[in-house]
Amino acid sequence: MIVFDLQCASGHRFEGWFGSAREFASQRKRGLLNCPSCGNGAIERVLSAPRINVGAAAPSPQAKTPEMEGKDAFAIAQMLYSRMLDEILARSEDVGKAFPEEARRIFYSEVPARPIRGRASKEEHDALVDEGIPVARIPVPTPDQLN
Ligand SMILES: [Zn+2]
Repeated sequence: MIVFDLQCASGHRFEGWFGSAREFASQRKRGLLNCPSCGNGAIERVLSAPRINVGAAAPSPQAKTPEMEGKDAFAIAQMLYSRMLDEILARSEDVGKAFPEEARRIFYSEVPARPIRGRASKEEHDALVDEGIPVARIPVPTPDQLN
């Protein structure tokens, strides 16, 4: 079946369902088509408005998100960095000033490994690095800065 948007000479619009475009042309030629509103037999096909596809298409991976539109590369990098921080903050346990000690305990398998974050002085950080403990310094806002 095929649906055509039709219009009579008086401007009434309606839909007609046909087996094929050929069937529509044939019925129209034989005067079998009438406007359901006024009975006018002068029927023309009008261009259909695009049908709305109800099934939402999956967004293409290459598609830019709206929030990325109109921003330069630096702004996007900042946004991604901010998201990464959010991710780290959401997934890691804040051990605060106990960070150097906790990092050691995890490194030496004294406690189950888990993502942690916290604060360490430069000396504490350097000491961890010297021991071969993988730590990364990330400028994360402290909780009081977040509030
Ligand atoms: Zn009509």
